[in-house]
Amino acid sequence: MDRRIYQTPEYTQEDDDRTLRMRREERARRRRRVVRRQRMAVGLWIFAVFAVLLALGISRNAASASAEREADSLKKGYLEDALKTLKQESLVQGLPESVYNAHPAWTEDFLTPNEYSRPGDKLEEIKNIFVHYTANPGTSAAQNRSYFEQQKDTHERSVSAHFIIGYDGEILQCIPLDEIAYAVMTRNMDSVSIECCYKAEDGSFTQETYDSLIRLLSWLTYAYGLDEEDILRHYDCGGKKCPLYYTEHPDAWERLKEDVAKQSEKTSL
Ligand SMILES: [Zn+2]
Repeated sequence: MDRRIYQTPEYTQEDDDRTLRMRREERARRRRRVVRRQRMAVGLWIFAVFAVLLALGISRNAASASAEREADSLKKGYLEDALKTLKQESLVQGLPESVYNAHPAWTEDFLTPNEYSRPGDKLEEIKNIFVHYTANPGTSAAQNRSYFEQQKDTHERSVSAHFIIGYDGEILQCIPLDEIAYAVMTRNMDSVSIECCYKAEDGSFTQETYDSLIRLLSWLTYAYGLDEEDILRHYDCGGKKCPLYYTEHPDAWERLKEDVAKQSEKTSL
């Protein structure tokens, strides 16, 4: 049987070789495609990893930038607070400067520190203001201050007060408001004391003394967040007849406290 009969002219040995070559080439192309795809895949992975790292880096930078901004604003806030505190801490005799500066006119003439009239102990808290009279008619504020001052040498008594109001209405400050005075035995540690000079036998104050006392009490209640009921007579703590006139005229004492309230209203203290 002649094979040629069944063989189409295309199927020659040459054709077979060409087919083989073509197949080889086809396989090579396929391999190259696969390799290309693999390379692309690897490239894509590397790109993806870079992209993720980049994104992470950017977000971390953004986060740290915002954290920095936050820290900065906190720092700024802290500084502002610290400045405010510093401003608040600018104290005079234990009081904020603006509060202190609203005080009525007085002459500062502090006693020499000594254990009989100016022990220098800290006055931490002020709960009451005590009003006294000097029990020595016709003596001036300066004379009474001098009596307090002499105690450092005479050692006669432990006695003093933060303020003395003269019968002409002058106010002397003998002890800073952040130190204790020796005026009300059991209450020296948490009160301020005011001595008042007088001329009249009944112990009543001159109008000048009275007016200065009202102004000083109004400012003190404002400065220490107290009200009129926190103003006491020495008599209210210990029973001593001091200030004499107001122990014998309780109605006048009530009026005095009302006058302090009116004064505070008038000056919006
Ligand atoms: Zn007294």
